[in-house]
Amino acid sequence: MKIAHIFNEVKRKDNDTKKFISPQEFDVDYISKNKGYSNKNYQINSDYDKLYYEALQPIKDGNIISKYDEDKINNFLEKIDNEVLMISGDFWGIQKFIFDSLSSKNASKILRSRSAMVQLITYALTDIIKEMFESEVVLFGAGKFLILAKPDNYEEKLSNLQKELDKYFIKNFFGQNGVVLSYKMTTKENINNQNSEKMKKDLIALGKQNELKKLNKFDIQNLEDDNLVIDIFKEVKKDDEICGFCNKRVAISKIKDEKVCSICKNQINLGQKLTTNRYMKIFKNSKVVDSIEILKYKDTIYYASFYNNETKLYDKKGDIFDISNKKYDPKLGIAKWPLSSFVAKENDDIISFEKLQENSNGLMALKADVDKLGDTFREFYMTSFKKFNRLSRELEFFFGNYVPYLIENNDEYNKKLYVIFAGGDDLFLIGEHRTIIKFAKDIREKFYEWTLKKATLSMGLVMFKHSTPITYISDLADEAEARAKNVTYPNQKITRDGIDIFGISMKFDEFINIEKEWQKVVNELEKSDKDTTSFYYRLIELSQMREDMKDNPLNSMWKSKLNYIFKRNLNKVDENIYKIVSSLIEKYGKKLHPSIFLTIYKNRDKINQNKGENR
Ligand SMILES: [Zn+2]
Repeated sequence: MKIAHIFNEVKRKDNDTKKFISPQEFDVDYISKNKGYSNKNYQINSDYDKLYYEALQPIKDGNIISKYDEDKINNFLEKIDNEVLMISGDFWGIQKFIFDSLSSKNASKILRSRSAMVQLITYALTDIIKEMFESEVVLFGAGKFLILAKPDNYEEKLSNLQKELDKYFIKNFFGQNGVVLSYKMTTKENINNQNSEKMKKDLIALGKQNELKKLNKFDIQNLEDDNLVIDIFKEVKKDDEICGFCNKRVAISKIKDEKVCSICKNQINLGQKLTTNRYMKIFKNSKVVDSIEILKYKDTIYYASFYNNETKLYDKKGDIFDISNKKYDPKLGIAKWPLSSFVAKENDDIISFEKLQENSNGLMALKADVDKLGDTFREFYMTSFKKFNRLSRELEFFFGNYVPYLIENNDEYNKKLYVIFAGGDDLFLIGEHRTIIKFAKDIREKFYEWTLKKATLSMGLVMFKHSTPITYISDLADEAEARAKNVTYPNQKITRDGIDIFGISMKFDEFINIEKEWQKVVNELEKSDKDTTSFYYRLIELSQMREDMKDNPLNSMWKSKLNYIFKRNLNKVDENIYKIVSSLIEKYGKKLHPSIFLTIYKNRDKINQNKGENR
């Protein structure tokens, strides 16, 4: 059976008409070629069931629609009359949830697990709704979901649920984040013919309601519990101490001399378990020893427990997942949800950012996301849940599964990188700066290849010290990514595929070309034992002059100055090197800065290491 790749359906950038390439095997070396899996020793009742694998099996040879989506939606529609309720959920304030008031000292222990917690809470929430209605989850991912349900006393049910959720988020997270639920009635006919104008209208209405609700967030007047907001402070006593991780809630115990609140403690435990276990089970109500609390709703509490041994998995009812980045094992038939992602470890303990910075002059954060994917997503979302699902599932596979797998299995990456978020259509990771740059080039190429050269990534890279507050790093990386997306070329339409590094934006190809040429210069200059640093700083000045020539004609003197410093300081250097430097400055101006900075950093590291060895 040939599996079609969704990017066959995506319009090519150089051609306005849709181009169908003959279906090709969904073939990344990571995916198991063994597609027939039948052994199921446990009935998994979840939407992650068969995710990525059977879910990619088409309804017929070469078709883009997955049999899984086809069957799921059809089975649901068979069970109901003509009216269908669409319920959407949107977890807002995710950035705040993950980064807010986190001290950089403790960040490494908790960042990844907060990011996983967003997904777990969303999962529990879809389960709550499934308990309320005859329903089917059609979309799920990155804090968002869409459920088709049989309309049954829905206004009251959903309004109660919203109230409970608001209470929960205000009590536990100070109302800095939450989930908004929206709903819209549609018909079976519309779902079956999603291309219809009627269905598009309903989906647009649902989206609008969602945006409006996000603006209003908590409807404070509707909160019945008058004491709710005050309660947070009532509980605080005079001599209470504040948690050293979130700097917000009252501490209840300690982790290695650091005071910790119950929520952070739960999150830290989750982080630890994610890095050391292969399997996870989600269940409700009866707590088992050492389980993690996900969400409390009325009398129901959702928990996750973690295992390394398959046999214990089936002791108790629950949804079971393989959370590792390992290949899917058809003999076990356990659904994959690679929540563990990847974080650098040392003896099973998550490495601190301080440690990650050792032997290196700096850490770097990288944020990346897919260029112009919104248009493609919107088109698929409006015309077909089934196609939309295929696209989001394939992208989720690339970012959420393949990226951590790549890092885990590369001996350089796996010692120096920490994934904060990888999923949906974006990526946020931090690590030793040279490793980050190498990874950035690597992943850009792999993504381009994987999307059949139809989609690109833009990336923002920023340097920071381990003591820099994590919210600040996240904001800087966001800004850098936004600049990278704005890279334009004269006489060309915006194509993106940009990089912003050390605050300088350019096309990724330019960065790679500059690096290649610049390396020739460095190789030659570093042969001598002369101190090259001051020379590099002069080049930074000269390339800035070249950049500013328009503003001040005097800046055109950069050429003669370059000639002078070469003759004066580097007279034995090959004439060819002078030519390379001169043409690099001429052509690229300040875009040369990042490459020069990286060389200066490298030399500094070398000096520091030599000092260390001589000590
Ligand atoms: Zn805390």
